[in-house]
Amino acid sequence: MPEWSNWSGSVRANPSEVARPASEAELQSVVAGAAARARKVRVVGTGHSFVPLCATDGVLISLDNLQGLVSVNPGQSTATFWAGTKIWQMGEPLLARGFALSNQGDIDTQAIAGAVSTATHGTGPALANLSSMLTAVRLVLADGSVVDVSLDSDPEMFSAVRVSMGALGVLSQVTMRVLPAFRLYERSWAEPFEACMERLHERIAANRHFEFWWAPPIDMCAAKTLNPTTEEIGIRDTEPPAGLLKRYINPERVDWSYRIFPSERNNLFNEIEFSVPAGNGPACVRELHQMMKTAYPDVLWPIEYRTVAADDAFLSPHYARPSVTISLHQAAGLPHEQFFASAQAVFANHGGRPHWGKWQSWSADRLRDLYPEWDRFTAVRLRLDPRGRFMNPFLERVLVG
Ligand SMILES: Cc1cc2nc3c(=O)[nH]c(=O)nc-3n(C[C@H](O)[C@H](O)[C@H](O)COP(=O)(O)OP(=O)(O)OC[C@H]3O[C@@H](n4cnc5c(N)ncnc54)[C@H](O)[C@@H]3O)c2cc1C
Repeated sequence: MPEWSNWSGSVRANPSEVARPASEAELQSVVAGAAARARKVRVVGTGHSFVPLCATDGVLISLDNLQGLVSVNPGQSTATFWAGTKIWQMGEPLLARGFALSNQGDIDTQAIAGAVSTATHGTGPALANLSSMLTAVRLVLADGSVVDVSLDSDPEMFSAVRVSMGALGVLSQVTMRVLPAFRLYERSWAEPFEACMERLHERIAANRHFEFWWAPPIDMCAAKTLNPTTEEIGIRDTEPPAGLLKRYINPERVDWSYRIFPSERNNLFNEIEFSVPAGNGPACVRELHQMMKTAYPDVLWPIEYRTVAADDAFLSPHYARPSVTISLHQAAGLPHEQFFASAQAVFANHGGRPHWGKWQSWSADRLRDLYPEWDRFTAVRLRLDPRGRFMNPFLERVLVG
């Protein structure tokens, strides 16, 4: 049996087979064939989730042969991509047609379908997560049939499928709202934690994108702003940053948005991230800062602090509330469970909802109270996949309980 593992190596599985369909019709026949043999089905993007979302002993489907731009509709400012397209493959073809994604996360290696399915996000108080950019999807259902889903065609199904972790079916195509292509001016700098906290509200309000990383061993932050500009592409300041924060501080520069958003993450780690109501962000990060200094002084990895606008996907962690997301990290291979469990307890004090792709130990019994539209999501799931063809033990835990 083939062996599969996620990016950080924390999840391993032995699917009975790995299918790489090269057309939508082939994808439909893989799903229908699995149903005929009573096999479970999971779909994987790039395997960058830290939890066993993609683990299965049934059929694991990769859409690495279903990639690329399908079409752009300039009148509606939308672009349709094959669902297996990696985010890094989207920027150039969009720019060639004068468009760009409105926001991206820290890296661009995820498949677009994998990213939207866990509500992956960047930073910016007026910018919602990637699933909110969807205007329509094509979804292969448990029996192998395919449906086009949009807010107009089936609002209930659309609001459920946007953040659905592959539990409703396999996305074959995604259509996303895009913006006219834009350049970003990036500035980043280091400053003490308290100085960063003092000016937090002001900086979030004054910039399209603001985020900071706090480095525990030196109690310093790397802060970053990105703002649209019409200036020429280029590097403004080449002075190399020093010390521990080096990897979070780029030279001041201007470039097309899709080249500015992603960073390189070459060292493997595991991660926990929760979204808290935006107003709770400062108190929550202060409590985590204190927790790391007193109880986990050996953890060298930073805390990341970002903002996300509210949206209306049933299972979005940012559902109906402007949010702050806070993430903590530990090197892959080092124990992280106790550290993350302590952080999770802090997040619970501040109304936190976990990132669907990152470490958390809660089950549906607890999660359902955090999501006002939980029952509507469940009704769609049971309508589309009554036999649980797309479930695995992790989804049983977080979606059923
Ligand atoms: C280094 C690193 C940096 C990260 N940075 C960020 C960040 O800045 N912001 C953030 O929010 N998150 C971030 N994450 C988390 C990451 O974006 C999510 O876990 C994302 O879901 C991973 O995308 P993937 O393509 O690897 O999906 P996978 O992990 O492979 O899958 C994620 C989910 O999507 C489902 N899925 C995949 N393809 C399909 C499909 N075609 N149809 C239906 N369901 C599908 C899978 O079944 C699974 O449930 C980061 C993770 C890493 C490792």
